[in-house]
Amino acid sequence: MMTENHNISDNKAAEDMKMTGKVWLAGAGPGDAGLLTVRAAELIGTADVIVYDALISAELLSRIPHETETIYVGKHAGNHPVPQEEINQILVREAKKGKKVLRLKGGDPFVFGRGGEELEALIGEGIPFEVVPGITSSVAVPAYAGIPVTHRDFTSSFHVITGHARKDGTLNIDFESLVRLNGTLVFLMSVSSMERILGGLMDAGMSPDMPAAVLERGTTARQRRVTATVGTLKEESERAGIRTPAIILVGKVCALSKELHWAEDRPLGGRQFLLTRPRRNSSVLAGMLKDLGAQVIEMPAIHTEPISPNEPLQEALVRSGSEERGRWLVFTSPVGVSVFFDELKEMKMDLRSVLCGKSPVRIGAIGSATAAALEEHGLIADVVPGTYSAGELGRAIAGKAEPGEHVLIVRAEKGSEELLPPLEEKGLDVCDIPLYRTVYEVSPVLRREVAHMLENGEIDAVTFTSGSTVRGFARAMGETDYSRICAVCIGEQTARAAKEYGMHIEIAEEASMDSMTEKITELFGRSGQSI
Ligand code: SAH
Repeated sequence: MMTENHNISDNKAAEDMKMTGKVWLAGAGPGDAGLLTVRAAELIGTADVIVYDALISAELLSRIPHETETIYVGKHAGNHPVPQEEINQILVREAKKGKKVLRLKGGDPFVFGRGGEELEALIGEGIPFEVVPGITSSVAVPAYAGIPVTHRDFTSSFHVITGHARKDGTLNIDFESLVRLNGTLVFLMSVSSMERILGGLMDAGMSPDMPAAVLERGTTARQRRVTATVGTLKEESERAGIRTPAIILVGKVCALSKELHWAEDRPLGGRQFLLTRPRRNSSVLAGMLKDLGAQVIEMPAIHTEPISPNEPLQEALVRSGSEERGRWLVFTSPVGVSVFFDELKEMKMDLRSVLCGKSPVRIGAIGSATAAALEEHGLIADVVPGTYSAGELGRAIAGKAEPGEHVLIVRAEKGSEELLPPLEEKGLDVCDIPLYRTVYEVSPVLRREVAHMLENGEIDAVTFTSGSTVRGFARAMGETDYSRICAVCIGEQTARAAKEYGMHIEIAEEASMDSMTEKITELFGRSGQSI
């Protein structure tokens, strides 16, 4: 009986939730997307609508699925912050539509994040919620600057204080008490009141020689650190042109950064790359670059849509199976391989009927990534040209085939035209079957942010792995100064496409992600560092 009642109330709770929706108040961490919690990352992937503000980095924005609605509540045009009351209303309104609402805030939502006020508004309207804590900048930003906020030899406490001035311009800080605490002091929102904070500490008896630091845009590729003393920090910070977001840190531990700094010293530390790629591809390259310390924004400018059901493919496979002469099956992308096998499954077609017809099948792959994708399915390609290009693939197959042999190409709808002429010249019987089409897309939110970063020279290079990723990127970005972009391309063909837009081009030695990474390290890596 108890259980039954329980179930009924559970069902009712589920029903209510469907009607009213729910809000997750989550922290997004201080900037580096790797510092997102597992729970927040899951919610980014599953929310119906994401309400976010200014501290959310482009790297994080790039993780939001294209179809997810986003509402920016950072700053209105003209730099006025969106009033808290308006943000509360947006949360209530969206939840009442029955949506799964993710309220994403920089750092931790309860550390100077006004998270409490947002929850009060939700409670007032009877809207269910959960809180997902985040990694706060007050601890993570010092950590990335090589400053432990506590250290047995120097301090046994740390204190997080807002440097935000009250409406009348005064600071609500008890400097005497802070100085007496003898702990590490972390001031958030403090750049504009730096002079008053440092002056207040010294007036309350702190030595001007006490180590201090200001840390700007911590945990991101653009992080900067100025270390000095309470007496000199203001001047040093001005000289370096430090701007918000930044934190001021005061205490003996600040001196440790000289020895313990690490983030900028990684081979690609301080570098930021934009990776364009079709959505289905795994992001092997992103992983490699991150391991070397780079910040990576993944912008899937194109995505692929399988053509399914695919009758021409079925017919072509049946025909190929009955061929008496030699026959070939040719793949030109890892996506093609994956769509091909999905489609076989869809058609309930056994791999044996494809491979074991009247004559054996030989397999061609355009490059090592495609060959690797085939290996995943137990197939070792017979032909993989040394250079990644459709023309090379055509010539390599023509070199090994006898005139009259049957060549079945399974690839993108508008595949490169360079593949066909060498095959036709050799007198091969070519059948070119589209497996998927490329759709161009990019979320407007990410587009805006990326355009802004390109303008400010904040992106060191953009990577391209096919001509269609170049075209997808250009379609997404529209009017922009392409000559400022350094394009690292996988092969000549891709580079030609990038050159058409006037980009500065660099080409990887080989068509592989290892080779792309090597090229990037050669161009942007810190010399003297082993990788
Ligand atoms: N809830 C956030 C803090 C919000 S207040 C948290 O837990 O981190 C905003 C202030 O946080 C900024 O003015 C700045 O002082 C600090 N801050 C946030 N991210 C930062 C970053 N990446 N680098 C330096 N300071 C940062």
